[in-house]
This record gives sequence, C-alpha cells and structure tokens, in this order.
Amino acid sequence: MSRPGSAGAADSRCPRCRAPVLRQWVGQIAAVHVVADLRPLTPSEQAAVREPNRLIWCLRQASPYTPARLAWTGRSHPAGCPHPHVTEHRCTTEPTTLF
Ligand SMILES: [Zn+2]
Ligand SMILES: [Zn+2]
Repeated sequence: MSRPGSAGAADSRCPRCRAPVLRQWVGQIAAVHVVADLRPLTPSEQAAVREPNRLIWCLRQASPYTPARLAWTGRSHPAGCPHPHVTEHRCTTEPTTLF
C-alpha cells in the first residue's frame, strides 16, 4: 500500500498499535511535541473529536516530495482550508492482557 508523503521521513509508527503517525515539534517559541494520526478527518469527524485536550492539526505538504508540516488550527485558521486535518494519535488498540 503506497501512501503519499512517505518519502518525508518525518513519519513513523506508533510503537503500541503500529498505526502510521507523524511525530513533530510544532511551534516557534513554545513547541509542543505532537504525535498525529495521518488519516485526514472529515469535517464531522473533526467536530466529534475536538475537545480541550485534543487538538486538530492542519497537515500542510507543499508537494509529495517534501515532508509534511503540522500547523496550529487556531482562531485565525481559515474555515475553507484546503489542507487535510488530522488529530492527535490515540491508540485504539489497547494492549490486551486479559483473555
Ligand atoms: Zn487547515
Ligand atoms: Zn497507537
């Protein structure tokens, strides 16, 4: 399965659930370390996952050959932004120790 943007080398996999994620420091002054899912969210999915402790990130990639960059989606973020939007990765497959 090929995935656009995989040449950027900034992405990796979650050690727990093996989902493809993008790890990145975002911000100029007070950078935060972000582990983002690579799957773009639909507008309704964004509304569903948006909560105080879970941010939506704007995934900006100038071309398939450059690494993707995460950008804040704050108040100044355009509503009609053409970029895919992703959210913080959360493992959906918890390690199962009980049988
Ligand atoms: Zn955006
Ligand atoms: Zn995970």
